[in-house]
Amino acid sequence: MTDEADRASVDAMDETDPLRPFRARFELPEDVIYLDGNSLGPAAHFVFHELEKAAREEWGNGLIRSWNSAGWFDLPMTLGDRIGRLIGAAPGQTVVCDTTSINIYKALHAAMGLRPGRTAIVAEGGSFPTDLYMAEGVISTIPGARLLLESVDAARIEELIDDQVAVVLLNHVNYKSGELRDMAALTRKAHDAGALIVWDLCHSAGALPVDLDGANVDFAVGCTYKYLNGGPGAPAFIYVAERLQADASQPLSGWWGHARPFAFETRYDPEQGIRKFQCGTQPILSLRALKSALEIWDEVDMDAVREKSIALTDLFIRLVETRCGSFGLTLESPRDASRRGSQISFAHDRAYEIMQALISRGVIGDFRAPATMRFGFTPLYLRYRDVLQAVDVLEDVLRTEAWKDERFSVKAAVT
Ligand SMILES: *Cc1c(COP(=O)(O)O)cnc(C)c1O
Repeated sequence: MTDEADRASVDAMDETDPLRPFRARFELPEDVIYLDGNSLGPAAHFVFHELEKAAREEWGNGLIRSWNSAGWFDLPMTLGDRIGRLIGAAPGQTVVCDTTSINIYKALHAAMGLRPGRTAIVAEGGSFPTDLYMAEGVISTIPGARLLLESVDAARIEELIDDQVAVVLLNHVNYKSGELRDMAALTRKAHDAGALIVWDLCHSAGALPVDLDGANVDFAVGCTYKYLNGGPGAPAFIYVAERLQADASQPLSGWWGHARPFAFETRYDPEQGIRKFQCGTQPILSLRALKSALEIWDEVDMDAVREKSIALTDLFIRLVETRCGSFGLTLESPRDASRRGSQISFAHDRAYEIMQALISRGVIGDFRAPATMRFGFTPLYLRYRDVLQAVDVLEDVLRTEAWKDERFSVKAAVT
């Protein structure tokens, strides 16, 4: 049962929450507590209106003229600069294009080219797997190149960074545990050894303040469909520090990175700035959805987001451990809020079934193999009372063993 004191305290926290007005701008089903905005952000109401306009007026009526008249051609750059504000990147260093996977490839390949004679890429064994798969792809194209992994080749990333390392690829926030890496310190370590660094911001852009320029980062990539709410499959972004742009070479040398794409020249002659990191024609309808999602972000103070994120996640840990502590859950995220992003993970032998039971009752988180239940906390639309209610449902699912119902053990393609 819900403790009266907890109920009164979450109500009071919601009353005084400075981010409270944002919730009304999102499309959220009444019967859902959405703890998966770290995987797919919800739609803002305004997005539907803008998508309709982009489809009917810009595409339907404007036709090819809209590349110029509706600003389509420049969208990757203009949206890149708007995301730049959230990740501490001055204008002209961020472009929205392609997928995070593809942008990892471009960044790693460019970094290898900037450190000729060095042969190694260092990454985390616990990275989001696509990061490692793309790194494998990069080394397969460069004779003698190697991939060294933390927790496979050494216990700590620092032990792997030496004068043979061209580039270090790190996830700012770990997708599974939510652990937050120290961007400034690790960037300095890489630079001290003469290496470059690529930060993957998929779980930090829109989740917490990021200061790429301040930390002297070289390259960064990230998603827009998670915390930034850009929509399913919305294009990703890539940041390249201005000081590297002219010398960094783009391995996917498509016409959108050409200095004069509409001169239709026979030879590739790259643009010198961030535009070069585009490859081909971008998905304009998805970019238009992202553009309207960013209208909200333009108004958001990332320090306020961080403060509420910590309060939400601290509350969730406390409530789960006090109420569900006897049911075999183990906290997988750092307990120290300064060392974690905006998600909380708990391990349980039957994590998959428990998560399916939660989802069937409208508490939507997700499962990551082999035994992690992951709960994302997104301060723009989550209330403190939602946290309390989610824990009420979790406690009930565990106490009644509702998760044992066999329909909850059927595995879907996407978890
Ligand atoms: C979600 C995520 C990705 C996804 O990459 P896509 O190419 O967009 O599918 C990559 N890296 C990390 C760390 C992620 O969390």
